[in-house]
Amino acid sequence: MGDVSKVLDPALEPIAAKVYAGERLSFDEGLALYRTRDLNTLMRLADHVRRQKHGDRTYFVHSLRFSQTNICYVGCPFCAFAKRFGEEGAWDWSVEESVAWVRERYEPGLTEIHIASGHHPKKPFGYYLELVAALKANFPGVQVKAWTAAEIHHFSKIAKADYRTVLSELVAAGLDAMPGGGAEIFAERVRRQIARNKVNAEGWLEVHRTAHALGLPTNATMLYGHIETLEERLDHMDRLRRLQDETGGFMSFIPLAFQPLGNSLAQNLGKTEFTTGLDDLKNLAIARVYLDNFPHIKGYWATLTVPLAQVSLDWGVSDIDGTLIAESIVNAAGATSGRAMTKEELARIVRRAGRLPVERDAVYNVVRVYDAVA
Ligand code: SF4
Repeated sequence: MGDVSKVLDPALEPIAAKVYAGERLSFDEGLALYRTRDLNTLMRLADHVRRQKHGDRTYFVHSLRFSQTNICYVGCPFCAFAKRFGEEGAWDWSVEESVAWVRERYEPGLTEIHIASGHHPKKPFGYYLELVAALKANFPGVQVKAWTAAEIHHFSKIAKADYRTVLSELVAAGLDAMPGGGAEIFAERVRRQIARNKVNAEGWLEVHRTAHALGLPTNATMLYGHIETLEERLDHMDRLRRLQDETGGFMSFIPLAFQPLGNSLAQNLGKTEFTTGLDDLKNLAIARVYLDNFPHIKGYWATLTVPLAQVSLDWGVSDIDGTLIAESIVNAAGATSGRAMTKEELARIVRRAGRLPVERDAVYNVVRVYDAVA
């Protein structure tokens, strides 16, 4: 049980009492967490919630990142990944080329293929069904976690079918889970500026609601640190918390700090400085306390950097994502923390931060619990 007497900011006293009693915070209480300078208390509250849920365990996954194309017509200004047809560096693979690409990088013990890609204007929906089926047939035992809600929305347009039909067919073809991308920030004001041509907030939430109704587990992200206000960040989490109350289908929440290189948003804003390590930690901790119905808060090491990911384990994080073989999206946007790590390296990083490394699969089944001491 936490000690309320150690709280320095009087505004946090009733909040701490609620968190230690296992009670849910209101929107205003969430905002008080964003506004406080009592970082020790915030960290302790997040650590308390994490510990209640997971004890010493920290999770990661052996995962291959794959994008069948980087061709995209949407034009999000924060994106450094998308290309146009014929542009240098563009790729657009057939099902056979995709399988060959994965085969080259496949390692025994791989549990997850994580697919996110561009909104390709010409590929028919049948291509995606074939791709999932081919990956499942060629790599038995590997789970396919594929396509953000924004991409599922795109598929529903090209297939002229509703979300339920699209997702049911993908599940029948072998889809195991969905990543959480495309959420950005739900507030309309922000979306109009950074994701104008992408699925809107209601569409994103409806895709996930439908996935959960079909038994397809998903994750949720938030892209922060650009033009959004703190209220808009919390509103984003609040909408996720409400949907999770309704469905229970989210596995993890992943706050992603905006990466400024290689895209027009940073230039247009005329800023060179974006989130600091402390902002990132605060945001993770607030997510942990506010999203009381989410099993995991993920501190994605590829954007946080390894040292900060280790520190984040004291700020509410219970998952540092994965080996990330062939990661290209955040690297395209200037993340400098490297492209891939072995399972042993990840386990060592977790251990050195004082936690017990647990390898999981795409849907959080435990694959292996590593030794606590190297
Ligand atoms: S973020 Fe996704 S939808 Fe937006 S431009 Fe990049 S690839 Fe396309």
